[in-house]
Amino acid sequence: DDRISRISSSIRVIADFPKPGILFQDITTLLLDPKAFKDTIDLFVERYKEQNINVVAGIEARGFIFGAPIALAIGAKFVPLRKPKKLPGEVISEEYSLEYGTDIMEMHVGAVQAGERALVVDDLIATGGTLSAAIRLLERVGVDVVECACVIELPELKGRNLLGDKPLFVLVS
Ligand code: IMP
Repeated sequence: DDRISRISSSIRVIADFPKPGILFQDITTLLLDPKAFKDTIDLFVERYKEQNINVVAGIEARGFIFGAPIALAIGAKFVPLRKPKKLPGEVISEEYSLEYGTDIMEMHVGAVQAGERALVVDDLIATGGTLSAAIRLLERVGVDVVECACVIELPELKGRNLLGDKPLFVLVS
């Protein structure tokens, strides 16, 4: 698919960001190429439009950029999964491990209903810790997480393994 090669080459790699030794995958250059950005959304929409998905849950912050247009195109609601203390209403929280320490992900109570079918969207999967926290958060309230979708996977970190039997769809590895 020549769309995938255009997407892949539009992603900039920056060495030593945010700290020495990290090769950061920068999707802001993908967003500067309207064709690559549209192809990215189209590829996800082609996959999810006929899957009766009611909820697209986007992970702060770059999951919002890709999740919201997917939700609009497939006729699903968009639910932001946010960093702590950002959401104004009552929230449920899920703690997860980072390389150093832990973080918390929050979702508004009442945003989703038990039995709804959700797609979780983020820009990138590394260790899988972030996506697995999102899955736990949604499953705690009875939502059926159908699949996770990312633009980029770093396969050497084996983040897929942390998702158990949950399917993961990525455009670029
Ligand atoms: P994980 O929890 O280890 O899978 O890390 C994934 C999270 O970290 C996602 O929310 C990504 O946005 C972010 N992340 C980690 N590495 C990169 C990168 O190279 N580029 C962009 N985001 C990254």
